[in-house]
Amino acid sequence: MTGTPPSGPRSHGNRFVPTVSKGAMVLVLGVHRSVDELFPTGVLRDALHPTGEDDPAYARALDDVRVVETPADLAECDALVTFEYEPSFLSADLAWIHSVQAGVDRFPFDELEARGISLTNSTGVHGDSVGEIVVGYMLSFARRLHRHRDRERTREWRYPDWDEAFTVDGESLCVVGLGTLGQGIARRADALGVDVVGVRRTPTPVEHVRTVYTPGRLELAVADARFVAVATPLTDATRGLVDADVLAAMREDAYLLNVSRGGVVDEDALLAALEAGKLAGAALDVFETEPLPDDSPFWSMEEVIVTPHAAGANREYYRRVAAIVRENVRRLAEGESLANRVV
Ligand code: NDP
Repeated sequence: MTGTPPSGPRSHGNRFVPTVSKGAMVLVLGVHRSVDELFPTGVLRDALHPTGEDDPAYARALDDVRVVETPADLAECDALVTFEYEPSFLSADLAWIHSVQAGVDRFPFDELEARGISLTNSTGVHGDSVGEIVVGYMLSFARRLHRHRDRERTREWRYPDWDEAFTVDGESLCVVGLGTLGQGIARRADALGVDVVGVRRTPTPVEHVRTVYTPGRLELAVADARFVAVATPLTDATRGLVDADVLAAMREDAYLLNVSRGGVVDEDALLAALEAGKLAGAALDVFETEPLPDDSPFWSMEEVIVTPHAAGANREYYRRVAAIVRENVRRLAEGESLANRVV
């Protein structure tokens, strides 16, 4: 890369020439093989290659887009798009790393900052996919779809108990975390006739949410809810946020739906509450340990739906990530601040 980094001259190997004017930066962008976890690496690389329809500023900003499989490939890159974090990224002379996930809790923020490496994430792309899976969980529990599917395997024809099934229309939901995910959930639940409250740090109104609580009032916020959906990032402040006290504050007929990160919910406390009948059930997309170990009791609980960290899965995912990366390549080249910047 040649040119001035976005925050002005800084030591980044000797490859930046601080006197070069804005718009002169040209970079080699790497796509780390680990993005295969979500979509084929080559599909994202192709979506990042400039086309004739692109803003010429984008094509000018890119020298190459290449797949990174080895340390030698990494050494050629100025910026990296990745799923995994590897310690080798710190010493690779990168100016910028983009996470294809919204959650960036696996990255060492302080060390990136100390080395002047910018980190951006993919928040903003999952509102519809996660919103739909959460209302899917709610509808499954209410309409008993998960139990019908269980019995289909043994060809068991069984009508639910007379008081077992309900409709989500008229029920209540508390959404903890009202960002991209939380708002995607709230909008869809509202459309189904669910009364929605929510929790976020900033106590300003949110569309489709009747009452917004701050984190200090979490127990009050969840107390009346038939469903509690957890959609915060994992941070020092949210680790173990949904603990035994919060679970105890929930209704005994309530369902916990976790699409954030496993560490936001105290799994031992959740298991204890489920086993003691203090909660009706849970839908869990994320866990402390992933993949969920074979011997986890969650696998075999009838009122627990386990999904494999797949709430964001969507065939359009790579296109949305590409749109954020393209915008930031242009911004980096033009010396503007990066979108979705975390570090
Ligand atoms: P956003 O940054 O858009 O939203 C985060 C929300 O959490 C904001 O409303 C924020 O409050 C709120 N929040 C932050 N800290 C707290 C706290 N201590 N108490 C209560 N609320 C808090 O992120 P996204 O919605 O895009 O993603 C959220 C997380 O979900 C990601 O970090 C990731 O870990 C996870 N995720 C999981 C996916 C999956 O497939 N299961 C897919 C995508 C994301 P405020 O509005 O006041 O800032």
